[in-house]
Amino acid sequence: MDKNQILKEFSADPDRYYKVKLFEEQGFIRKACTKCGRFFWTLDANRTLCPDDGTDTYSFIGDPPTTKRFDYTQAWKQVEEFFVKNNHTSVSRYPVVCRWRDDLYFTIASVVDFQRVMGSKVVFEFPANPLVVPQTCLRFNDLENVGVTGRHFSSFCMIGQHSIPENGGYWKDECVDLDFRLLTQQFGIKKEEVVFVEDVWSGGGSFGSSLEYFVRGLELGNAVFTEFQGELGQHTTLDQKIIDMGAGLERFAWITNGTPTAYDCCFGPVNQILFEKIGIDSNSEMLKKYFTEIAKEIDHFDDLNQVRRLAVKNAGITDDQLKKIITPLEGMYLIADHLRTLIFAIADGALPSNVGGGYNLRMMLRRINGTINRLNLKLDIDELIDAHIDYLKDTYPELDEKREDVKTILKLESSRYEESKIHMKKKAEKIREKGAPSVDELITLYESDGITPEYLKEIDAISEIPSQFYTKLSDLHQSEKKKAITELPLEELPETEMLFYKDDPMEFEAKVIKVLGDQVVLDRTSFYARGGGQEPDLGTIAGFNVINVDKHANIIVHKLEGGIPKEGDTVQCKVDKTRRANITKNHTSTHIINTSSRGVLGSWIWQHSAFKDHDHARLDITHHSSLTDEQVKQIEDAANQMIKENYPVNINYYDRGTAEQKYGFRIYQGGVVPVKSVRIVSIEDKDIEACGGTHVKKTGDIELIKITKTKRIQDGVVRIEFVSGPTAFQYVKDQEEESKKQAADDIAKEKLEKLREENKEKSREQIPILLEKILDGQSGELDEITIKNKICFTSSENYDDYFCQTFGKKLVAKDGTAAFCGIFEAGPTIRVMIFAGEQSGVNAGEIAKEIASILGGSGGGDAKFAQGGGKDTSKKDAAIQKAKSMILG
Ligand SMILES: [Zn+2]
Ligand SMILES: [Zn+2]
Repeated sequence: MDKNQILKEFSADPDRYYKVKLFEEQGFIRKACTKCGRFFWTLDANRTLCPDDGTDTYSFIGDPPTTKRFDYTQAWKQVEEFFVKNNHTSVSRYPVVCRWRDDLYFTIASVVDFQRVMGSKVVFEFPANPLVVPQTCLRFNDLENVGVTGRHFSSFCMIGQHSIPENGGYWKDECVDLDFRLLTQQFGIKKEEVVFVEDVWSGGGSFGSSLEYFVRGLELGNAVFTEFQGELGQHTTLDQKIIDMGAGLERFAWITNGTPTAYDCCFGPVNQILFEKIGIDSNSEMLKKYFTEIAKEIDHFDDLNQVRRLAVKNAGITDDQLKKIITPLEGMYLIADHLRTLIFAIADGALPSNVGGGYNLRMMLRRINGTINRLNLKLDIDELIDAHIDYLKDTYPELDEKREDVKTILKLESSRYEESKIHMKKKAEKIREKGAPSVDELITLYESDGITPEYLKEIDAISEIPSQFYTKLSDLHQSEKKKAITELPLEELPETEMLFYKDDPMEFEAKVIKVLGDQVVLDRTSFYARGGGQEPDLGTIAGFNVINVDKHANIIVHKLEGGIPKEGDTVQCKVDKTRRANITKNHTSTHIINTSSRGVLGSWIWQHSAFKDHDHARLDITHHSSLTDEQVKQIEDAANQMIKENYPVNINYYDRGTAEQKYGFRIYQGGVVPVKSVRIVSIEDKDIEACGGTHVKKTGDIELIKITKTKRIQDGVVRIEFVSGPTAFQYVKDQEEESKKQAADDIAKEKLEKLREENKEKSREQIPILLEKILDGQSGELDEITIKNKICFTSSENYDDYFCQTFGKKLVAKDGTAAFCGIFEAGPTIRVMIFAGEQSGVNAGEIAKEIASILGGSGGGDAKFAQGGGKDTSKKDAAIQKAKSMILG
């Protein structure tokens, strides 16, 4: 929808859309900006320009409009105190990882907390009305601005003020009155400083008017009145009108402090630690001037580098100051900002990786590492994490519990970055030779080689990071999670009665209400349909085999084989109960392994996906590295301990909002549940998940869980394959047999080895004596060797390849007229080995070839030495006869 068109329409009727009681009471005047034409409301009769164009824009830098100074955490205390005093409930922030929406990775606005998507509709889930929330929001589309503009953050606290007009809530008049009093009474800003600008908001099929409020050109908040749905002109009023006021807490802190940047008053002790490293006074007149220039110009250019150059010029900054002060300062701010975002994201269970939402996190950490290298800083990241968390824990106590987990993950990621640097260096050298890469080339470099532009800048392969790089990259990865659904013509059918959620009979009668080719819909069924990673039940319907069961909304469709009953028939149905029992055990086991993994590995473990069949199952978890044997064993032990404890598995239905408040978002391990009533499967307080699957009554019913294999299947995801119940016992039995067999094989091998050693020993003693006798001219039989004029042949089982090799070689070396041919068994093959002295008249190669071909194998060598063999043991005697006659004549 065209926002400008809506704005035009709304601004044409300001009494209806924008005029609130406050404006009348206080005497606000409506004006049109003489520069841009936008309408705004002010108490200053002389004001002619909107806040964006005003002469007072960013004049609070160095001259704040309040007498009191509040930093980030203090500013929230003020906001909270004000709203609570005015009958609002203060709600704890929701996770920054948006588990309750499958179209978003991260929470991007406070209102997202309360939005639940059902089909194509957005409904609201308010834990209280009205409420206020300090919602940490992550946004990655302005990354290149972070640290540079003084006001862009990769994560920020959106003060969310939300209300539904009915049930104790309020609408426009009270909202704007509250926001005005928050600024003037709580923060002590003069009434005349506050300017409201007319605007509109639209998204997700709904829209409404909004009033942005500014003080000295800084937009502090935006009160959106979501009121309509549909297309402009044909729109209707929403059943549920919503007040969505979002304000930036960082800006509230900034305006009261008037520091050069918002960063200066929002990172608490972190800034001090960083500034000490470079010895900068962040509050100098020069910086105030520079950042005021940046703030004023930022919206007038597309290219950030241009703005930067202009500000440098206007603030009279020398090259030396730029290099020694501005550049390091930008780096410090970047580090502080990115680290804070990573702390929130990792504490809430996200992992840096190359996929999905993890992608942005890795990119941010690489920017931190790159900046540290570029500025040649000696920083202790753990110390910075501690400083951040110590500062934030009053507002966000949950961060304190994840402190060590955050450190673990960041340390691991940083070491991976260091390891990849050699590879990056080689690549970067090539780039330097080639010349400046385009934005697209830079993206490819990052995507396929992990080379960040910061790194290229660090090693001087590029001089500037192109503006747009991070926006473009982020857009590529912002693509929403999507699902494919196949459509069947089922519109008019009633919902199937799902017996598996009731008394779950394994044999039942049902009526056929629809036949679609080889698929049939019944009025009621116990056949569990494929869903949530659980494989479908099989069995028979009217004697025909059920080969698949799918769920389409609340209608269950059975696919049959061999025939199909008629519509209207009453049919006998039978579920394969052994299969079902095994699938059920595997499903409960999935929950057990998930929670066991979290206990063993860390709080970042979430179910990534799962699959449960009757004879095997797998759980993919979010984890940064491959599992060690020790970890696998610990997880398996923890899982079997839960079986031993025989905990009851309880299933209860809760209103979704209640379930989320009671158990938190951990319940969404298998993704969001788009229903009002949530089925909660709980194993005591060990594991609580929203799940539609079938489960055992007590964990002891599973009897045994065995992990059969684990594998890192993608960056940040580890697959655990396992079996449970009877399959696990069978697996153990197979394993035992396998190891018995292995042990027997080992013993046999050992024996053979020993025999060989003995033979060697014997040969060493025997060979010199034999040689002496033969070279002396002895003929006939000697130790089972046939000798004729120094030509020797043996097929005795007493001799192995060691003997033949050693004896033959020595014999012909000592006497050119001698020759030797030995036939012996080596494993499954019969081998022949021939040594022939130069004057012996024997051709070793010919014999080897001939004998090998008899034995069905191959042979090779030259006239003096050859060998060969084959596996046809039935030809052994024939081979011996032939060899004997060939060599002895
Ligand atoms: Zn204007
Ligand atoms: Zn489940």
